[in-house]
Amino acid sequence: MMMIAYLERQQQQRQQRLVPDGDVELDPDHSILRALDSDATGDVVAAAAARDFGGMVFLQPARFLRPSSADDVAGAVVLASRSSRLTVAARGNGHSVCGQAMADGGIVLDMRTLGPAMEIVRCGGTAAAVDVPAGALWAEVLSWAVRNHGMAPVSWTDYLGLTVGGTLSNGGISGQAFRHGPQVANVTELEVVTGDGERLVCSPSSASDLFFAVLGGLGQFGFITRARIPLVPAPKMVRWIRVVYGAFDEYARDAEWLVTRDDSAAFDYVEGFVFRNDASDPVSGWSSVPIPPGSAFDPARIPADSSPILYCLELALHYDHIQADNVDERAKEMLRPLRYLRGLEFAADVSYVEFLSRVGRVEEEARASGTWATPHPWLNLLVSSSDIADFDRTVFKRVLSRGIGGPMLVYPLRRSKWDKRMSVAVPDGELFYLVALLRFVTPQAGEAAVKEAVAQNQEILSHCRNKGYDFKVYIPHYESEADWARHFDGDWTRFIERKRRYDPMAILSPGQTIFSRARPPAAVAASAS
Ligand code: FAD
Repeated sequence: MMMIAYLERQQQQRQQRLVPDGDVELDPDHSILRALDSDATGDVVAAAAARDFGGMVFLQPARFLRPSSADDVAGAVVLASRSSRLTVAARGNGHSVCGQAMADGGIVLDMRTLGPAMEIVRCGGTAAAVDVPAGALWAEVLSWAVRNHGMAPVSWTDYLGLTVGGTLSNGGISGQAFRHGPQVANVTELEVVTGDGERLVCSPSSASDLFFAVLGGLGQFGFITRARIPLVPAPKMVRWIRVVYGAFDEYARDAEWLVTRDDSAAFDYVEGFVFRNDASDPVSGWSSVPIPPGSAFDPARIPADSSPILYCLELALHYDHIQADNVDERAKEMLRPLRYLRGLEFAADVSYVEFLSRVGRVEEEARASGTWATPHPWLNLLVSSSDIADFDRTVFKRVLSRGIGGPMLVYPLRRSKWDKRMSVAVPDGELFYLVALLRFVTPQAGEAAVKEAVAQNQEILSHCRNKGYDFKVYIPHYESEADWARHFDGDWTRFIERKRRYDPMAILSPGQTIFSRARPPAAVAASAS
């Protein structure tokens, strides 16, 4: 149903004029447009801003601009604020899946072009941070910080081809989040351009409401132009481990125990995924588990009464020198209490950079097979620990028992690592699971497969609601106010107040479909007279 709505919207879009009659705001001689317009060749460049990784929503902007500074961003926002209906979207790397970084007939800013370059900030003693332009990819931050300073941020995403501003607008979750918090909890200062074009520097101690509003704020309260991210000495090596479970309750018990241990006894990374108890499925079957890829998976170790769905905990230990750090001993000791299926454990020693960049290989393979370019009807949920066993029984074991053509992640996080002042919505329980259904559709499967996947996502969402789960959609997309109000729940009033305060005309991030662009008072008065 959603897919059909998207296609209809796309068709209506083609029939509309890009620049509304009577609007003077996109006068091509305007200095901002002359300075930043990358669209000199017509629709070709802007077409990139009309699509995203999801490949299901297509909304043509009027202009795709390339700001090089926060002042350029502010200039574009001010230009829109003087018009009667222009909106502005910040496009990070366009890895949203439902058009969140688009602006239908508005201005899209290519945040990748933002400067200035990254810069180290000494914070007293050995503490350091990096000032990053918001359009930098996390991959760029990693390579810059490790190469130039032997340092790195502590909290990552699995895939590093995402921008700093894009993930800070959502959350930024990976296997370090249980310990260090998500990326939104690992930033100490932001430079932000608000909806009236004001450029502000904010932090937990200065303009703190704006700071927390913007973190996980879905681009609604301001565009991040620079972020200050603390650094620590980068480990050199990682012992990367996977262990397999036949029963969900044992998997969940161990995973929750691991993420609640004291730092001194904890792994540096805890994630996990569901896979099919199946030799023939090359994407989600047995072969998705072994590391290094291709090492032997012995199915004789799987109990005969196991379900068609199995579980894999993914763990990592950082170290610098094998001998000095006793990594073999430490790993053995830490794995000993776990109840995984003995004989189904895998390990590899890789450099820290290689470990963090591991999903880059998946991207290369997906590009080669064509599945990077096909639609991605992804669904990410945060499901409370109190409901995850039921979710496993009904969703993983029944609805998704045939797999989804891509990874199905499920691993626990801790609510206490998420500051309640931030805008991002998470479940109430202290332990909740990230459930990521990262669907890849083959080019041969066609539109019917996409529709089926979208319908299945809806079925899963309805199930979560009907069962009254304590859950949230992560990287949400809704089209009705009632759905957004339900999503933010007790924090909806605060979300609206923050919108009034920082973007009263609702110019920013229209692709999130939360607020409608307000007309300036002069235009309202003119139409009334
Ligand atoms: P975009 O899609 O370009 O933008 C996302 C939203 O943020 C839009 O509303 C946009 O307007 C707004 N925005 C962008 N830049 C700014 C800015 N500077 N200031 C204010 N608003 C801004 N997420 C995780 O947490 N962990 C993962 O491991 C993870 N892996 C992923 C892997 C892949 C292959 C993909 C496609 C997505 C993954 N995601 C993951 C989701 C990802 O975090 C979000 O899709 C994120 O929004 C993408 O970042 P982007 O830079 O492409 O942002």
